[in-house]
Amino acid sequence: MGTNQSAIALLSAGLDSSVALALALKEGYQVKLALTFDYGQKAAPQEIKQASQLASFWKIPHKYLNLPFFAESGHSSLLRSSAKQAVPHLSLDDLDNLETSQKSAKAVWVPNRNGVFIEIAACFAEQMGASYILVGFNREEAATFPDNSKAYRESLNQALSFSTANQVQVISPTELLNKTQIVEEALRLKLPLELLWSCYENGARMCGSCESCMRLKRGLKQNEVPFDDYFANASV
Ligand SMILES: [Zn+2]
Repeated sequence: MGTNQSAIALLSAGLDSSVALALALKEGYQVKLALTFDYGQKAAPQEIKQASQLASFWKIPHKYLNLPFFAESGHSSLLRSSAKQAVPHLSLDDLDNLETSQKSAKAVWVPNRNGVFIEIAACFAEQMGASYILVGFNREEAATFPDNSKAYRESLNQALSFSTANQVQVISPTELLNKTQIVEEALRLKLPLELLWSCYENGARMCGSCESCMRLKRGLKQNEVPFDDYFANASV
């Protein structure tokens, strides 16, 4: 990755996209826009609010877009239209159990969500003269979410070399890191942790027991960061 390059960032306010953005800024990227999507997910109000605050913190323009079509025939437990379908809640042991985490991943899967986000960001990137799209993939979840992997990013880059005139490329400075290492980067970069929203649920505080919360909690615990204030359920 070079310096003095411009990028469009995907920012959900979760740990990975927030740290990816912080890392890119540290490396000298000019981030022209941070994009957040409301695709009908239960956590959309919190994600948009926190992403907007993060963007203000870094003085980056922020935009959120509504993508209502995901909910029209979607069955994911992440969606507000599936209100009766609970998001799976996991224990720490479940995180390293492939069978349990695959089951959880299936329950929260939204068809081609990351693909759609990145393709939309590519439109903005070309229009705004940005060369890169910045995403927060991570190695830990790539095991159960193949659209979080380096292989997926590389295949997207090949496709984008055909579909964008300026050969927009996707970059992800977090993709080879696990959550503990990503938290370590967050601490090193002095990211305000209270601005994160990594939870699949909608609430005043992060639930503390969905898969995404549990992975964040484990990363914080392994870095000896007190986390009681961030979660409604702080036990591990
Ligand atoms: Zn949660």
